[in-house]
Amino acid sequence: MTARLIDGKAIADAMRAGLAAQVAALGFQPGLAVLLVGDDPASAVYVRAKDRAATAAGIAAQTLRLPAATSEADVLAEIARLNADPAVDGILVQLPLPQQIDPTVVQEAMDPAKDVDGFHPLNVGRLAAGRECLAPCTPLGVMRLLRDSGTVLDGARALVLGRSVSVGRPLVAMLLAANATVTVAHSHTRELPAECRRAEVLIVAAGQPELVRGDWVRPGATVIDVGVNRLPSGVLVGDVAFDECAAVAGAMTPVPGGVGPMTIACLLSNTVSAAVMRRA
Ligand code: NAP
Repeated sequence: MTARLIDGKAIADAMRAGLAAQVAALGFQPGLAVLLVGDDPASAVYVRAKDRAATAAGIAAQTLRLPAATSEADVLAEIARLNADPAVDGILVQLPLPQQIDPTVVQEAMDPAKDVDGFHPLNVGRLAAGRECLAPCTPLGVMRLLRDSGTVLDGARALVLGRSVSVGRPLVAMLLAANATVTVAHSHTRELPAECRRAEVLIVAAGQPELVRGDWVRPGATVIDVGVNRLPSGVLVGDVAFDECAAVAGAMTPVPGGVGPMTIACLLSNTVSAAVMRRA
């Protein structure tokens, strides 16, 4: 392996410690409400992790659990109650939602000032326009990893593989704001390996186990692997074939221990930012 490992766990731990110190000095306690509808086991695990991390940072976290059969109207009523609650600075609705509930309707019902997932159209639009906003946590975590690993973005050729609303698209706006020259690739992209090989910064969020092979990576490139895929064997792998790509890349994130821990750290950071902005 030649690539320097970008240790997301260490960077996230340092970020969480810094946030705990910031919260202790605020003079008030920020509040985070996490709404979990149904009993998807993976969602339950994520929600518990968020609740624990928020509490450890000194944030008043509450998890609201609603049954899987809850109607969209009842979820909207809960959102309205949380919008009006002055003790709640951040609201997060855990996805996926049961099929009778349209996630976009729920996201649009949220007070944009409490939208710590950054999915409300007002925040999406502000991010696209390069204005201050609450931005999605996973792409924020990726940008923080790039910054803390000393990756130069100004003028760099960056490629984002994946164009989802929660990861790929916001990353494009963030990389543009950092003055990178950005290409977005997706399932219709022709000559994908050659496109990837041009990138000095390669960020992969495709949801395809080990899609990116060693000969897709430009020698010395920084590679950020957002993917989390569980193989039938139970092993967790990213969207990047780690050993092959680490032999070529200059710096690279592992899976697990790369982007994953940053997502929760950025959720806490967004909650603190929302609390401060709401009181400004
Ligand atoms: P998504 O909504 O499924 O989007 C996947 C994107 O990748 C789409 O734009 C799709 O193209 C593209 N794609 C899929 N297969 C491709 C292929 N063979 N060649 C080229 N492009 C391809 O996924 P997501 O929500 O962005 O998540 C991506 C991955 O990141 C998943 O593994 C997810 O578990 C992980 N994730 C991790 C975190 C974390 O905290 N670590 C957070 C969020 C997501 P089209 O648009 O053309 O369909």
